[in-house]
Amino acid sequence: MSPLQLVITLLNRAKEVCSSEALLNAEISKILTDLKDNDYPRHFVHNILREWKQGKPINQSPKQHFKQTMVIPYVKGLSEKFRKDVKDIGIKVYFRNPKNLGAILKPNKINDPFKISGIIYKVPCCDCNQFYIGESGRTWYERSKEHHRDIKNKNLNNSLYTLMAQTKHQIDWNNVSILDFLKQKHERKTLEGMYIQKYKKLTFNLFKGCNVPSYTNKQVHKALK
Ligand SMILES: [Zn+2]
Repeated sequence: MSPLQLVITLLNRAKEVCSSEALLNAEISKILTDLKDNDYPRHFVHNILREWKQGKPINQSPKQHFKQTMVIPYVKGLSEKFRKDVKDIGIKVYFRNPKNLGAILKPNKINDPFKISGIIYKVPCCDCNQFYIGESGRTWYERSKEHHRDIKNKNLNNSLYTLMAQTKHQIDWNNVSILDFLKQKHERKTLEGMYIQKYKKLTFNLFKGCNVPSYTNKQVHKALK
């Protein structure tokens, strides 16, 4: 499989197995990291990704000065020399770490968003159309334990407990959903704030809203729309 075909295969499979756009974006970032770890040049991967996102048919033999490309295991001291030698006869060499490459070619099981860490989540109410929006650097399974403990301990700083105490409404634990994924803590907190602002009147969060700092990434700004 050529490097180009490998990238396209990974992207197509991600699209197939991911049930939402948020999951797909999370999977694509993972693919980009894996490819980077395997010494795939950034511009090479990003060019393919851009055309793939635009739905363009991707030229299976991209215009380049090399007649052929190959991916070989990286062996310190040997692989660089080999790459240099075959460059002259028109072969472009990419190195790989066999273990990592094997791992990224294995089918992923990421269809359970509740098992992914770094989340923005939504917890609905059983008795009205309001919901709570929260964020966590951990998975929903881990975060939900904390909510249950706060409710049991009647923690007034917990929005879920406060809702239950004030309105006698019940939390709809069976319909929790994951709105987004973001690993970076500060940006995730901002993203959470954006979601709360977006659904302001519908949320029962005790603390609402925040401004978008200029450093925040595209994903945060997208949530605004
Ligand atoms: Zn309610």
